Amino acid sequence: MTISESKELFAEVAIPAYVQQTYTYRIPGVLTQYAQCGCRVAVPFGKALQVGFVVALHDTLESDIPAEKIKDIEEWIDDEPVITEELLELTHWVADYYYAPWGEVLKAALPSGLNATPRTRLTVTESGLSELETQTNPPHLTKWQFLKFVVDAGGSVFTDQIPAAEYSEARVKAIARELDRTGHLKIQHALGKQKVQAKRQNVVRLLPSTAGTGGEVKKPTETQMKVVRALEADPNPVPLTTLTQTADVTPGVIRTMAQKGLVEIFTREIRRDPLAYLKSLPRRDSVQLNQEQAAALAAITAAFAKNEYACFLLHGVTGSGKTEVYLNAMQAVLEQGRSALMLVPEIGLTPMFARRLAERFGDLVAILHSSLSDGERLDEWERIRAGEAQVVIGTRSAIFAPLVNLGLIVVDEEHDTSYKQAETPRYHGRDTAIMRAHRAKCPIILGSATPAIESAQNAVNEKYRKLELTERFEGRALPTVEVVDMREVFKRHGKQQPLSDELLTALKEAKERGEQTMILLNRRGFSSFLLCRSCGASVQCPNCDVALTYHKADLRLVCHYCNHHAPVPKQCPNCQGSYIYYVGEGTEQLEELLKNQFPEYRIARLDRDTTRRRGAFERVLGEFASGGLDVLVGTQMIAKGHDFPNVTLVGVVSVDAGLGMPDFRASERTFQLLAQVAGRAGRGELPGKVILQTYHPEHYALQCAKKQDYRRFYEQEIQFRRDLYYPPFSVLANVIIRHTDATHAVSLAEQIGKFLRAAAQGDASVRVLGPASAPLAKLKNEYRHQILLKSRSRRKLRDVLDLAFSYLADATAARTGKAITPDQNPERRFISVEIDPVDLM
Ligand code: ADP
Ligand code: ZN
Repeated sequence: MTISESKELFAEVAIPAYVQQTYTYRIPGVLTQYAQCGCRVAVPFGKALQVGFVVALHDTLESDIPAEKIKDIEEWIDDEPVITEELLELTHWVADYYYAPWGEVLKAALPSGLNATPRTRLTVTESGLSELETQTNPPHLTKWQFLKFVVDAGGSVFTDQIPAAEYSEARVKAIARELDRTGHLKIQHALGKQKVQAKRQNVVRLLPSTAGTGGEVKKPTETQMKVVRALEADPNPVPLTTLTQTADVTPGVIRTMAQKGLVEIFTREIRRDPLAYLKSLPRRDSVQLNQEQAAALAAITAAFAKNEYACFLLHGVTGSGKTEVYLNAMQAVLEQGRSALMLVPEIGLTPMFARRLAERFGDLVAILHSSLSDGERLDEWERIRAGEAQVVIGTRSAIFAPLVNLGLIVVDEEHDTSYKQAETPRYHGRDTAIMRAHRAKCPIILGSATPAIESAQNAVNEKYRKLELTERFEGRALPTVEVVDMREVFKRHGKQQPLSDELLTALKEAKERGEQTMILLNRRGFSSFLLCRSCGASVQCPNCDVALTYHKADLRLVCHYCNHHAPVPKQCPNCQGSYIYYVGEGTEQLEELLKNQFPEYRIARLDRDTTRRRGAFERVLGEFASGGLDVLVGTQMIAKGHDFPNVTLVGVVSVDAGLGMPDFRASERTFQLLAQVAGRAGRGELPGKVILQTYHPEHYALQCAKKQDYRRFYEQEIQFRRDLYYPPFSVLANVIIRHTDATHAVSLAEQIGKFLRAAAQGDASVRVLGPASAPLAKLKNEYRHQILLKSRSRRKLRDVLDLAFSYLADATAARTGKAITPDQNPERRFISVEIDPVDLM
């Protein structure tokens, strides 16, 4: 945009805070040369400096804000936009659609390594100095003591350098503000260094005089000649650490050579490469697609050739060759010089897909997920931005990867609920991907063996185009599924058995045939909880409304929500009784049980506890894949995506937990999990078998999973959704009220409930349910209540929310006598809104 020289220039800035609106700032003359949308700026906001995003520029003040109220931008952080125009629009859509602050969405779209934290500097003024001189020694008032503290620290300090033991943060703030008001101290805001810096490395190169024959004046010694030879063998500068190894010398030798002018040591920037370990993989060509695969590919490439948005639902059972379709479609897109983006639901799946992508596309692949280090993520992001990487694979937030010229998006396992972010900004990765493809005018593939009910419905309504892969590659049979009624097992043994005889026998048989077994249990830890026999009390987390889980390896109790740790009590904390016992088994106990029963079997476990260390996940999976293990026990981490041809038995130990959840998606989730896990068995030449242990063998989710009958499940489930007016027949919003004070939480929930009802009044298409105590009534020390809104129309739902929040602001204003906007309402912070919630817990 061109802006006339003479006029003033203003920027609209989105701030990552609890605010829905953007704010106008003046761009000071010296900064106008940088003015571009998509850059970050530091601006005064409230009483501090905040990093915000420039989302628009204009040369007139349209609003009713008086010009003298407009503050100046303090600092222009980026020379070039960090957010492309495309991503500005996409994030704006996300903010609007999910009722989230635009600034928060923008922040979530960038690698956190870019973040720079604003800092506050305190400097003693002349008048402050002279005031101190008149003080008796030592000064007796806290504020003078504080001023002296700053003088002793050199006259100027950053607040984050003041030890909290001497002055708490709140205290520093209060005292500094007062001293600033009286002119004894100056408060300045500045921006700190970027969180992650470019990585540098010391490298060594030969200086010209020593190359070849060696200089006469500075003749190298025998040892030094080893270094010279090593350097001559490589035309490029060699990293210092590598050189000490190849030449077998100490770093001291090389440093001495540098002093003598034989070699030069200098630093250079290097890129952190999380995929370095895949670099030496042999390339693999595309496979010959079968008829169904080829038809699917043709439909996708036809849409791509027309530069057209089209959403394809690729429904294919596990192992039917969906990934081969993705890979070929990506290849077609890359050949036209466009880029491709692939989302996978779990970090656990990225290594496997990264490998398959790297085998096909080599260096063009970049990876983005949350278990990379900040530095790796930043470097991968830079590489994408620079156009060096044209294929990106990643988890949810990779949907904001700064790819240009996007030609295809793939969302694998599209039904997976981990695509929904559980905290602000609460967006859905799949739905955001659809919007991105729509704007980029390119095709998107949603792949699944068990599509989300909403997606299947969209295919029925022809909003999505359905592509089907009806059989497994090479016609391999789907595994047979046996349902074991655990009530019968209980009767047989007269007591609870974690593992049925059926499963144990099958496991032995598999081992005898030299085949592998996977056992899934969706609960980590050793036991679910401790129960007192005398009073029936269980040991609860003090912060959350849940029982603590016993972890035997660490000999302690752990809260799976807030990570609170507690020692294992010898007595019941409630009645002091000493008969405490453990209820419900977790993966840790199952592993131990199997190891006791089958000491000669090689057994390992995969869950969040065993994979905390970097690389642990890949290591265990690698061992399993290479046949080094007989049995793998794990949580749903092992259920998805993996392809182990020698696994012929899958046992599911307890599937009922999921069905008991107070969530309308419970059946869908159980069905999907079972179908996924069943898909792990019999992927190779050998036929597979699945054993499901359950207390509800008659439930339709189980019955349909047993037959791997997606159609029948869909038909039953869609009927249930229609009858109870759940998505896709309505739009949901969950309004969550959280507060550390129980009474305040209740009254705020009642108040907002009343306003939501008032706002929805006369509009039969919006229903307000609640407030009710949330299923997890206390979490991380906050009391939680929720109000569920159901509506036929997204617009209406939105209007009701807006109106209710403005009523709430009016009520606060009436109480305090000061008019405020909904954003300025301090109560707003305790209320979060989740649009399209996938989890009503
Ligand atoms: P999905 O993604 O549907 O689970 P994959 O694409 O991983 O299925 O395919 C399962 C296995 O079958 C993989 O090992 C894959 O390489 C192989 N495969 C799939 N399609 C073909 C094909 N047309 N030719 C050769 N191998 C194939
Ligand atoms: Zn807790």
